[in-house]
Amino acid sequence: MSIRVDPDLLLEIKEYGDGEVETCFNCGNCTAICPFTTDDYPFPRNMIRLVQIGAKDKLKQSIDPWLCYYCGDCSQTCPRGAEPGEIMMSLRRWLTAQYDWTGLAKKFYTSKAWEIGSMVVLGLLVAFLALFLSGPIVTDQVELNTFAPVHIIHIADLILAGFLTFFIATNVFRMHKNIMWDGMDKKVPLKLYFTEAWELILHTLTQKRWIQCDEDKEEKEGISKWLTHLLMMSGYGLMLIMVVFFLNWFQTDEIYSFWHPQRLLGYYATAVLLFGSGSAIWGRIKKNTQLHRFSHLSDWIFPILLLAVSITGILIHSFRYFGLPIATYYTYIIHLAFVAPMLVLEVPFGKWSHLYYRPLAIYFQAIKEKAKQEQASAKTAPASAD
Ligand code: SF4
Ligand code: SF4
Repeated sequence: MSIRVDPDLLLEIKEYGDGEVETCFNCGNCTAICPFTTDDYPFPRNMIRLVQIGAKDKLKQSIDPWLCYYCGDCSQTCPRGAEPGEIMMSLRRWLTAQYDWTGLAKKFYTSKAWEIGSMVVLGLLVAFLALFLSGPIVTDQVELNTFAPVHIIHIADLILAGFLTFFIATNVFRMHKNIMWDGMDKKVPLKLYFTEAWELILHTLTQKRWIQCDEDKEEKEGISKWLTHLLMMSGYGLMLIMVVFFLNWFQTDEIYSFWHPQRLLGYYATAVLLFGSGSAIWGRIKKNTQLHRFSHLSDWIFPILLLAVSITGILIHSFRYFGLPIATYYTYIIHLAFVAPMLVLEVPFGKWSHLYYRPLAIYFQAIKEKAKQEQASAKTAPASAD
């Protein structure tokens, strides 16, 4: 099969990060040290080679960048300072842009003005809309549900959920097309999507491959990055479920006792989001781990938005608790102005999308492997029968 070559691919990939693809001389040190390298996936060197020769279609079809968790071991051993770990990070951003049919992911990853400008515009738009649609301002006590009627906010949440589902589903469809149509000479049996679904569930809920990447590093880097990431995911997922599906229960004017599940769940989600986003920002400021040596704007935006959402959430709760109506209402508007870009822009087009692209890549690959095995045994079956 002939490979279409794109001579501009190297320059294109460089727009997505700080790797030095052109300095790599293919010694293979990075592949030898990578904890995820197998005979089938000898990365990151094979990915770098594809970039060097301009094999754009092959790169688009690859899942390898999603199998890397940026431990940085390869970058430490590279004799040329090519930063293979950072190249893999750039490729994940680039792949996200390839899957996205709207072109927004590309704009966000390659233009600071687009990334910051769109966040600011959307945040302001949501704040103005919330102010315009808000109800009466009660000042003798806190009545958040009078100022921001929960049924209106809930409708807005459901519209938002529909928007997210549409863009995520269409981008995932394109990812699926790229990965599954490579090297398959027959259609993949539908049943494999069900029999291999456990891979998707397992890797979505646990991101367990990351543990392999963290081995031997706990002592050096303190609490495992995997655990921090998992806690943050649990807090984010919990908040999303409560806000989208149980807003009537979550946004109340009544202050429950400390041990009420509504407060405990809220405290848990806020605590892990604060911890996760705070440690991500601190790590990027200190730059003392491989993962944090290079920081793209998108690496800053997501934890900063998460931190802002968590802090404004704590403030709303505190103002409500201490009976400060005006402070509660306006902090709520600011809170919405951070929540909207974090969900609308980050989840389908930004860094957050890695959370579903990684397990999906493993899932699609598992289906593909099974399908190839079945095709191979179907080809050999008549010969055995003879
Ligand atoms: S270790 Fe560096 S020079 Fe060697 S193959 Fe990997 S990226 Fe290239
Ligand atoms: S950063 Fe770690 S996981 Fe990623 S390619 Fe390098 S050695 Fe492998």
